[in-house]
Amino acid sequence: MNSRHFTPPYDEPEQPEGMYKEFNATELYCTRCKQSVPVRERLLLVLPDGEKFEYLCGLCGNSVGSKMDKSKRPLSIIV
Ligand SMILES: [Zn+2]
Repeated sequence: MNSRHFTPPYDEPEQPEGMYKEFNATELYCTRCKQSVPVRERLLLVLPDGEKFEYLCGLCGNSVGSKMDKSKRPLSIIV
């Protein structure tokens, strides 16, 4: 039995704590400011299957994007 397991050469270093807990867009390109800007998340809609957030430019308040945040419950398909 081989107790050492193979380590791939492209082993990724662990991300520093608090840097990338989960992928979250905190900077987006604002077409009005013509640069990457810090964004503010705003709850736009609460839907039965999740919540819709809107990203607003932190500088001018322009809407730069949106995302759907699904509810915590696991996705189940009703047949
Ligand atoms: Zn802007």
